[in-house]
Amino acid sequence: MAKGEIVIDETLCQACGFCVEFCNRKCITIPENRLGPKGFPVAVFSAPEKCSACGICGWMCPDFAIQVYKYVESEANIYQGG
Ligand code: SF4
Ligand code: SF4
Repeated sequence: MAKGEIVIDETLCQACGFCVEFCNRKCITIPENRLGPKGFPVAVFSAPEKCSACGICGWMCPDFAIQVYKYVESEANIYQGG
């Protein structure tokens, strides 16, 4: 189950592949058949269900294109239905 998610800013991504290389859960790909707004391939969060929200992709991106969000369990959820 995903513990978080990332958002990739396609206007900043340079398709360097660092995030793909360093995500040990293989959540990110750079599909050749999908072009970003600048006309070249960009990174895609292709396996969100595997994301652990570790943050490594965000740290590795030299263009600051990735925001990482970690899910937190709220008290509302803990007591839901109780
Ligand atoms: S936060 Fe971690 S697990 Fe999620 S996509 Fe980035 S490197 Fe992969
Ligand atoms: S590390 Fe950043 S610039 Fe490089 S492919 Fe990933 S999102 Fe794009």
